[in-house]
Amino acid sequence: MNKTKVVVTVGPASKEKSILKELVIYGMDVARINLSHANHEFCSDIVNKIHEINEELNTNVAIMLDTQGPDIRVGEFIGGSAYFRKGETVRLYNDDVLGDSTKFSVSYKNLHRDVMYNDIIKLNDGKVEMRVIDVSEEFITLEVLNNGYIYDNKGVNVPGVHLSRPFLSEKDKKDIIFASGLDVDFMALSFVSSAEDVLVVNDLLIEIGNDHMKLISKIENERSLNELDEIIKVSDGVMVARGDLGAELPPEKIPGIQKKIISKALSQGKVSIVATEMMSSMEKSITPTRAEVSDVANAVLDGCDAVMLSGETTVGKYPLETVTMMEKIIKSAEEDLDYQNFLVTAMKTEKQDTTGLISYSAVECAIRLKAKAIVTPTMTGNTARKISRFRPSCPILAISPDIKTVKSLALCFGIQASLDHELDSFDKIMDLSVTTAKEFVGNQKGEKIVITGGYPFNETKHTNFLKIEEL
Ligand code: PEP
Repeated sequence: MNKTKVVVTVGPASKEKSILKELVIYGMDVARINLSHANHEFCSDIVNKIHEINEELNTNVAIMLDTQGPDIRVGEFIGGSAYFRKGETVRLYNDDVLGDSTKFSVSYKNLHRDVMYNDIIKLNDGKVEMRVIDVSEEFITLEVLNNGYIYDNKGVNVPGVHLSRPFLSEKDKKDIIFASGLDVDFMALSFVSSAEDVLVVNDLLIEIGNDHMKLISKIENERSLNELDEIIKVSDGVMVARGDLGAELPPEKIPGIQKKIISKALSQGKVSIVATEMMSSMEKSITPTRAEVSDVANAVLDGCDAVMLSGETTVGKYPLETVTMMEKIIKSAEEDLDYQNFLVTAMKTEKQDTTGLISYSAVECAIRLKAKAIVTPTMTGNTARKISRFRPSCPILAISPDIKTVKSLALCFGIQASLDHELDSFDKIMDLSVTTAKEFVGNQKGEKIVITGGYPFNETKHTNFLKIEEL
């Protein structure tokens, strides 16, 4: 089984239960729904289907909802799209209008207060650029800089311009409360710019009594890159949201930024997801380009926890083939991963405390003993996450009595988590660890497994034991 996780965005092309079930069989670890496009009814339907599939297949696929964020989207066009020609003048109205090739509106009604003459406005992931040539109280006049189509609801970026509105919109607030009610596992936060933005969401979760939803900060503009360390510190993970990043910053900067985000997340023991256009030619074609194969492989070699599909699985013709291909690429790239180097690098930033040293030792033992698995009985998932951070080459089998913990580990590199309640004595933990390892790796008599965790459960916050067992 691959260690790098696959996040699949669900949309019209993948919403049927039969397709979702196959996606799970082929390798989907987390189902993502983008609230910029999907409504609550769609979310509830998909969440129910994933729950049913988890029951039927005995899997633990987790759910991620992705906020619209304080992003800006174009409104609707007559016929769903409009074609803009280089050199033409277009009006961007502050009030909603049905758009065509001479006019349109956007979701942010105060844009005219924030932009100035010569600012650049990018539409549809930067595919069409326009320059501000005049601003009035009624509309912004723009010069089209290149030919291209813009479709309903596509994203708008205004690079380098500070937009004066709160991070948490009323829509996002409602969506987060709704997601909490659905008990979703991860909330991806669009357009996080500072640690404060994440803390605002954290406060909301405390207010509504949700203590388990994990927050993934999407890094997609220059401000978030400047505040990266602080954002990672208060988040459970980060997403390299290359769609908006590539519109906000020169696209040639993205590969270096991706490496930096992954390495900073790893150094704080947080998960990282590489997203957007990984296999986008597979929206229409049954095979990916060689460049896309390299892109997925390089994300794995950079050390990310998860890779993500968007258009390929929401509107593409080949969602199942794309996931199958992605798993093949991951499998091959993982054979080339420099596990030893990840371990040495992680240890340089690991705290030299009981948890850090036992976790490190568990991985070192697993390497030297060629162990078949590291088994981590865990209440909160912390031990498993810590082990994952050291990137062992063998699987990490996490066992938890809490289904929320099991699901929360769905994004972490190398972890296969399962639910079990038989964890009430040390002997039972040992027995269950051996049984779980046998189920996962087969009864390979004489082979070793490493078992590590914190005991007594509920009483210690530390990883404090390490035991080697033979199968
Ligand atoms: C991105 O911009 O790359 C991204 C993942 O966000 P969204 O899909 O919401 O545009």
